[in-house]
Amino acid sequence: MHKADFHTHTTFSDGRNSIREVIEAAAFASIEVLAITDHFDPNDYRPAIAGLTETALLHHFQSIREIARDYDMEVLCGVETTPLPDGTLALSPAVIAQCEVIITSCHYIPYDGELQPGEFFNDRYWSMYKDCMLAMAAGKGHILGHCEDYLPIERFIQGLGTTYPQRRSICLEIVKRYLDRPYIEKLAGNLKKSGKMCELHCATQTPREWVVRMLATEGVRFTPGSDAHAADQVGKTEWAYHSASMVDGFLCTERKDFYGQR
Ligand SMILES: [Zn+2]
Ligand SMILES: [Zn+2]
Repeated sequence: MHKADFHTHTTFSDGRNSIREVIEAAAFASIEVLAITDHFDPNDYRPAIAGLTETALLHHFQSIREIARDYDMEVLCGVETTPLPDGTLALSPAVIAQCEVIITSCHYIPYDGELQPGEFFNDRYWSMYKDCMLAMAAGKGHILGHCEDYLPIERFIQGLGTTYPQRRSICLEIVKRYLDRPYIEKLAGNLKKSGKMCELHCATQTPREWVVRMLATEGVRFTPGSDAHAADQVGKTEWAYHSASMVDGFLCTERKDFYGQR
């Protein structure tokens, strides 16, 4: 098994460090297989991300490949993206063909009702979220990203000035309340059918242990991801290795685990 980190960001999207700094940090953390997976999503609510062009992305991949030559490490070029609500990738065939790793994560949902800041427990909103996640689990892409944290709470916290730990505890409450066993069973079934892997998200140490266990029992495979947005977080994937071994889950840590399944 290799030491891998399949979820990292650079200044191309919202990361703090350059490609070289991220690769350098991965080398320092003894990472053998690294994926650089910047946000790429034409429908993102952040204009700086929605505005990234395909040409810029392909140029970014070229830079990654050039810089990677200076290191004794496998570096994969990929993206993190939110699919359409039916699970279809919102990426062109040209982009899909160039991506070695595609992480699909839910950063927003197309909910058109009223949302009140601070009123997180909106049944209709979270029911729509679960539908999007189930479609995503059944759809294309390699990895289901942060499926039990970094939930789309943006519209609930607008103007509240929350801290990172506060947002984590808000997500935890929502997860406890809405992501119940019947939903996880369906999620596991869809992942199993599509062959999409589930990320063990090391920044938040999610999904919950019983969820990892249930997915593992269904034969769903896992990937380690730090979701590093700064160099000092790159390669911090130990939790994934620990977590997968605790439940006897299969952790994918090689380039070949990403062949096919786009
Ligand atoms: Zn994300
Ligand atoms: Zn990310």
